[in-house]
Amino acid sequence: MPAPSRTTRTDATRTDASQPNRRNLLGSSALLATGALLGCATPGNAANAPKTPFAVPATYLPIVGSDEQFPVRRVYCIGRNYAAHAREMGSDPTREPPFFFQKPTDAIQLVPHGTVADHPYPPLTKNYHYEAELVAALGKGGRNIPVTQALDCVYGYTLGLDMTRRDLQRAMGDEKKPWEIGKSFDHSAPIGALHKVAQSGHFSKGAIWLKVNGNTKQSADLSQMIWSVAEQIAKLSEAFELFPGDIIYSGTPENVGPVVRGDVIEMHIDGLPNLSVKIV
Ligand code: MN
Repeated sequence: MPAPSRTTRTDATRTDASQPNRRNLLGSSALLATGALLGCATPGNAANAPKTPFAVPATYLPIVGSDEQFPVRRVYCIGRNYAAHAREMGSDPTREPPFFFQKPTDAIQLVPHGTVADHPYPPLTKNYHYEAELVAALGKGGRNIPVTQALDCVYGYTLGLDMTRRDLQRAMGDEKKPWEIGKSFDHSAPIGALHKVAQSGHFSKGAIWLKVNGNTKQSADLSQMIWSVAEQIAKLSEAFELFPGDIIYSGTPENVGPVVRGDVIEMHIDGLPNLSVKIV
């Protein structure tokens, strides 16, 4: 099975002015002990990197038009954020507050623009689904971020697939167990390069569609999201302190469905380059 492409860099020499103050402070060796007490990660400064018995790659997204890369901290996903999709999943979209889950950061599979990346069909499932989603990437974080300030936290946008082992997700849901095995498996987050807000603007409307082997499967408008990107950030920040590097998959429209090996998925959001993967 071909190895899926992923951006991994072990060089940790970059310091980025957009990093949070806490991390910049931790660049000072005098404060390293404090950072250790706080349990803070100390990326961005090789001089302070602890000795480790082996290397664990970090996850980065290319930033279009820049030689910098976006370091991914956490991958949040919102569930059932389009009414018609909520209905097809068997829930009432008018009464549910937004809910979130996470994928592990190393579930990210970078799909370079203009390529069709091989995406591995995962083990254990017989019903492997696509979900086309707008992804917001944060350059600032915080707690209890007001909706009116939430978009100031967005560094950029891209498009992504929230790949789902639907049979496992449903089985776990039926048993009132965590979704993890259905949502948070290896390579489950194919994603494109990041476009800075300065270039892309914010996304409140515009077509979002997904085709399998050239046939349209999902087709909707971003304006149909129940919770806007700003509202998602505000709600999420009530539950978790958000940080630069966090990314948010903003939910999928209706008509999710299965793919099998050999299928080619192409997804589109107005204003971004298309993303394509081949299931292998
Ligand atoms: Mn989703």
